[in-house]
Amino acid sequence: MIDKRLRALFDELISNEGYVSGRRSFPRTLTPDDAVAMAAELHKDLDGAADARARAAIRLHKPLACGPGCSGCCEEMVMVFRPEALRIARWLEQPANAAVKQRFLEAYPTWKAKVGDAPTTLATSFKSGDDPGYLAAFTAQWRKRILCAFNHDGMCTIYEVRPLVCRNAHAVGTSAHCVGDDPEDLPALRMASPELDAWMERARGALRAAHHAIGGPKQRPASVVEAVHDLLTAAT
Ligand code: SF4
Repeated sequence: MIDKRLRALFDELISNEGYVSGRRSFPRTLTPDDAVAMAAELHKDLDGAADARARAAIRLHKPLACGPGCSGCCEEMVMVFRPEALRIARWLEQPANAAVKQRFLEAYPTWKAKVGDAPTTLATSFKSGDDPGYLAAFTAQWRKRILCAFNHDGMCTIYEVRPLVCRNAHAVGTSAHCVGDDPEDLPALRMASPELDAWMERARGALRAAHHAIGGPKQRPASVVEAVHDLLTAAT
């Protein structure tokens, strides 16, 4: 993270588990602008690390199987905290992205009819700390093969501002196991990267703490689709 002030905020946000969990108030002012800027910096940092991982995969003769049109991971229910949802909503509000926003708003009702209460179920499991329940609900949802409402013709329409979890998704060798109805029911193979996994843990903690610091509901993530839709339609 290049911006020194954001770097300091990031360090402070993850300095106390209470800020991450929302049990303790963050003692400094964090504005929504700060939260969005921090999300953008984290996205940039992760892109650099993910590129390095892709190059390492090639050197190991295990090239990534991901590419344009491959949308297996876009059938997972992506849950985010407010900074990332805000970043996407602001990007969609830019005049240059009006067509993307319009397409998303048109796709939303069909997506919502398909997923039903799944986002609420996942958010409730997360909030209660029910990890097995969360995983079971997440997997059951993924097996239904419902594409993210931001995906159009196999492409992410918000690629530039997509969440961390989307940027980190990858599979090596084959994408055959990235879908919920894989006949072999095998997990997708990933590049082992303990350092990057640890970084992700810290980054997600900072976004969670920032969510609380800007007034997001305690310990409650939201589906990226629903959260952005709510932000876009709140003022209308
Ligand atoms: S935000 Fe983009 S990359 Fe992430 S699941 Fe949706 S379409 Fe896929």
